[in-house]
Amino acid sequence: MALRIFNTLSRSLQEFVPLDPAGKQVGLYCCGPTVYDFAHIGNFRTFVFADLVRRYLEFKGYAVRHVMNITDVDDKIIGRVREQKVPLPQYTGQYETAFFEDFQALGCQPPHLTPHATEHIADMIDLIGKLMERGVAYRMADGSVYFSIEKYQQKGGCYGQLVKLNFDEMRVGERVRSDEYAKESAADFALWKARVPEDGEVAWPSPWGEGRPGWHIECSAMSMKLLGPSFDLHLGGEDLVFPHHEDEIAQSEGSGVQGPDRRFVKYWMHGAHLLVEGKKMSKSLGNFFTVRDLLAKGYPGRAIRFLLLTCHYRESFNFTLDGLAGARSTLSRLDECLSKLREIAGNTAAEADGKLIQDFSAALDDDLNISAAWAVVFEWVRETNRRLAEQSLTPAAAAAWVAAWQRLDSVLGVGAVSSAGAPPAEILARLEARQAARQTKDFKQADAIRGELRAKGWLIEDTAKGPRLKRM
Ligand SMILES: [Zn+2]
Repeated sequence: MALRIFNTLSRSLQEFVPLDPAGKQVGLYCCGPTVYDFAHIGNFRTFVFADLVRRYLEFKGYAVRHVMNITDVDDKIIGRVREQKVPLPQYTGQYETAFFEDFQALGCQPPHLTPHATEHIADMIDLIGKLMERGVAYRMADGSVYFSIEKYQQKGGCYGQLVKLNFDEMRVGERVRSDEYAKESAADFALWKARVPEDGEVAWPSPWGEGRPGWHIECSAMSMKLLGPSFDLHLGGEDLVFPHHEDEIAQSEGSGVQGPDRRFVKYWMHGAHLLVEGKKMSKSLGNFFTVRDLLAKGYPGRAIRFLLLTCHYRESFNFTLDGLAGARSTLSRLDECLSKLREIAGNTAAEADGKLIQDFSAALDDDLNISAAWAVVFEWVRETNRRLAEQSLTPAAAAAWVAAWQRLDSVLGVGAVSSAGAPPAEILARLEARQAARQTKDFKQADAIRGELRAKGWLIEDTAKGPRLKRM
């Protein structure tokens, strides 16, 4: 069956047909984190959604090239660097490391490429140069460069493809300098921001003077550099539709590098907002959670992933701690069912059960209808438990189901981690440190290490044979 997805560009469900004439290669770009602080659980809803898209395309046999940028220079980062008086790479590096720890704790597949904005300044300058040459960008006296929406439209470009715009009411985005009165039009946006004293050391040379790129140009330059001027899928949270993604289209198509009848991006997909405890997340309401906050409270990463994946990506979702506790017990029921199946299957080899895989993919082919996919999984768990109770499962039937589940879990990514391999060396080293602390009766330190490992998703179980690490 063909996969159909909702394309924000056409505002309709469309069959997914990759640009690759062989129908095999798929280019996927998802806007990544701005590494100025720990990413919150709302940010991760988007990354888990992108991971689902990527995994499902791979499940269907596509060869996906997944690119996610790291925004490591912007106004907020520069502000923090100035406050804390640390070099920019040192400041952003710590949050990037934290981001990927959280990303991994949620079982997201690492993207194939994670380009950093600061490593692609030359590509951005090159793209801005093309826009200048084509007359759709202009330099201001201070050395800033802006994109001219009017000139772009005069050349046949369409600004307002993802959203219908009312130019009179258009607000100036937060990433545009406050001195926007200097621009030819209020709607124009910055491609290059001239260096100002507040930027400190953060500046690069360019043909227009020292400065730094605007945020939107980063994604246009890096996505086209790594996936080509036209690619299949561009993902992000719905808050990025305007102005970020609209501006990406204008810059990329305004540079004229696409072939005839080719667009910058064929399918745009956007994930909906996340509410936490019924409200918009905010530090003052006490409902602002990072992944590490939740891990430290003892919730396993896979339960967080499961909860984020229970709802269709285009529907807003209310994430609650009660829901998370429920997710954990649902997963343990699933684990229990699987462990019984594995016991019966023993070493029997079997083909994966076709019906289960077929029902599951029919659900996801329908614009990644994950709720329907979970309904298939839980109906199967009920059926399995019924068959287990009446002891009517043969080893071959059990093995066929286990094999089918493995295929399903290649998409869902919530399976018990027993198959995920040994703990990494640094985790083992901390376990040894805990043992050493216990031997010297430093129980405070031993408990602190237990808490630290728990926050990283590893549970220590003390058994008669010594401590054992279990992935939470
Ligand atoms: Zn972006």
